[in-house]
Amino acid sequence: MMMTDERKAWLRGAYLDRIIETAMHYAANHTHFADAEWEAYIVGAFEYLIELTAEDHGYLREQAGYEAWQRIRVALGEASQTAFSKLRHNNGDVIDADANFALGIGWISLLQHAADRVRTYPEGWRARIAGAKEKFGCCVVHIGCDYDQSGCRSEVERLREEVRLRSLSMCELCGESGRLRLSGFAKTVCDQHAVVMGEFREDDGRWADPWAWNDDAARIDDLLAKGRALMSEYPAETAEPRRGLDPVRPRPTQHVMDESDDPLRSTPIGMRIDEDTWNMSGREKELLIEFGWYIQDAVKGAAVKVEFLDGYVRDEVSGWRGYAAQPLTASDEEFLHGYLRGLIDDEYERMRLKQKAERNK
Ligand SMILES: [Zn+2]
Repeated sequence: MMMTDERKAWLRGAYLDRIIETAMHYAANHTHFADAEWEAYIVGAFEYLIELTAEDHGYLREQAGYEAWQRIRVALGEASQTAFSKLRHNNGDVIDADANFALGIGWISLLQHAADRVRTYPEGWRARIAGAKEKFGCCVVHIGCDYDQSGCRSEVERLREEVRLRSLSMCELCGESGRLRLSGFAKTVCDQHAVVMGEFREDDGRWADPWAWNDDAARIDDLLAKGRALMSEYPAETAEPRRGLDPVRPRPTQHVMDESDDPLRSTPIGMRIDEDTWNMSGREKELLIEFGWYIQDAVKGAAVKVEFLDGYVRDEVSGWRGYAAQPLTASDEEFLHGYLRGLIDDEYERMRLKQKAERNK
């Protein structure tokens, strides 16, 4: 028999003190909520209330779990807000005052490292950290700069990639050494925090760098056929409109660096983007110079089922608005949307062919 809403309301009211007390005790000793740890803590917690049924006990456990989760979430949110405000404040010369950091505080040292490095750049580059986020277990940093300046683009790309690779061996929650782990989602955490992820996938431990997933036949199978994509629904981006307007920076127009030195050219996708860049002209060329690295990241991170691709591409491109040298027009976005989607479609086709070839072996 289902418990009635009246019964639930009565239980919650009558035992609220005990629910809160149980939740607070757990929250005081845990920085993160993990189902497995919670289950072990709460089992039998209300059974001394012998006047209640087993079903009542279950409902009280559920309520206490919700309260504990809420308390931990609020405490974590406050700690993270404080830490990121301090980071922005201490590095006001190189980090935007409204930089958005959508990641765990375990990676804050990586952001400090990025800030220290940006501080060494020539003033003419006008380089600023505009934000950072967690994406498929990696720390992705957004840096605005004047790509027309000699050496600027390759150095900024190198810094972004260095931070991303370092994040793959550092716990996003506490900063201890960790590795990429896969459950219903991807996250880089230490052994101690692995418990927040719930049940692991069978291929957990096989991947050190999610940007290499695109070469795996089994994962391709997931994406294209079985519908068991790693991210069957990717997390929605928090596309925060930029508060306050940036001074308009000139758009980059020239190919200023030594090609062999360009980190973008170290992967086949990056090389193709770079070649397209210099074969295009006008606005389109400017957009590819500015967003080449973002486009590459977005192609490599496109671990979504085909039916979610439109939404994925739209969210990626709208996420770049906050970092654009100048506001993106509707036609700018339309171009970026089409270009990115085209690269992803080609990549999926390449994966399909590769998979077919492996099957026929
Ligand atoms: Zn940790």
